[in-house]
Amino acid sequence: MDETRRRFLKAAATAAGAAATPDLAHAQALGQDQPVAHQAVPSDLMLRVKSLESLLVEKGLVDPAALDALVDMMEHEVGPRNGAQVVARAWVDATYKRRLLENAPDAIAELGFRSGQGEHMLVVENTPKVHNLVVCTLCSCYPWPVLGLPPVWYKSAPYRSRAVIDPRGILREFGTQLPDDVEVRVWDSTAELRYIVLPERPAGTESMTEEQLAALVTRDAMVGVAKVTFPPSGGNR
Ligand code: FE
Repeated sequence: MDETRRRFLKAAATAAGAAATPDLAHAQALGQDQPVAHQAVPSDLMLRVKSLESLLVEKGLVDPAALDALVDMMEHEVGPRNGAQVVARAWVDATYKRRLLENAPDAIAELGFRSGQGEHMLVVENTPKVHNLVVCTLCSCYPWPVLGLPPVWYKSAPYRSRAVIDPRGILREFGTQLPDDVEVRVWDSTAELRYIVLPERPAGTESMTEEQLAALVTRDAMVGVAKVTFPPSGGNR
């Protein structure tokens, strides 16, 4: 992007009062999944992606139908409801849970969830004495086959740094209070290895079906910023 265009866009964005780098609270308040929907002008990154896409299509290097298929897959086939099904299965089937903890990609593929950005995944289990929290300190590595695309707060600099420096503080901001005797373990995802939290099954759900249990499991619980509650306390699914 040339300097003139960049300056124009920056000025326009400033005039519109757009926030280019949201803090954690702002990122959380954005509704998570549409981080730039409120911006008057697309970010530099989005403009760069659009320019590249047009160029690649124009030169015949990329088939627009293939791009559409990829976008459709991301919108309809991957997402946290997949992860919720994995968690619910682990809650009701002890042998499945063992397979999941030993070899997450294979156990997850048993339920039909398999795609890029998740070839190597590790499931970490919450217990009454251990709470796991997932972050990618470098960028935004995330287990796409089970959680879909990462929410904007997960990609934000405040979350990425504070999850390591002050995990209990981050948890409190998400409304998760942990007793002092619960150990917090922070897992740093990379492009090679992505983590998913297996939350604790809440009390009072003993007679629920697998499908009913899956409906309780939220995305935030599988990242580790929240617990699964019953009755559900809301939050993001
Ligand atoms: Fe990353």
